[in-house]
Amino acid sequence: MAEMKTYAGGCHCGQVKYEVQTDMAQVVSCNCSICSKRGLLLNFVTPEQFKPVSGVDSQKLYQFNKKVIEHLFCPTCGVESYGTGVGPDGKRMFAINVRCLEGVDLSTLTPMPFNGREM
Ligand SMILES: [Zn+2]
Repeated sequence: MAEMKTYAGGCHCGQVKYEVQTDMAQVVSCNCSICSKRGLLLNFVTPEQFKPVSGVDSQKLYQFNKKVIEHLFCPTCGVESYGTGVGPDGKRMFAINVRCLEGVDLSTLTPMPFNGREM
């Protein structure tokens, strides 16, 4: 079931589009202040797995707290379809909002709780 696939992702209005190669083996439901307000379900990938298609550079940036994570959202429809940041190991990661991918059946996923609130 954790099959590697190429998923098309993006915001609601269609301005921001990307492709991501990943599997749905690990989906995280984070309880931090922004994830709980936005209802984000996240799948983490490396830059090699992430391919911008359009509108990615037109996004607005939102940061808070330690400003480690770059929360990006579409200036037109406001949807955060992914975020990015550099991990403790110095490597950039992309946090894909699984809800913004096409062809993912959310009811088949078992999101792992992640205690982002305490970080
Ligand atoms: Zn949009």
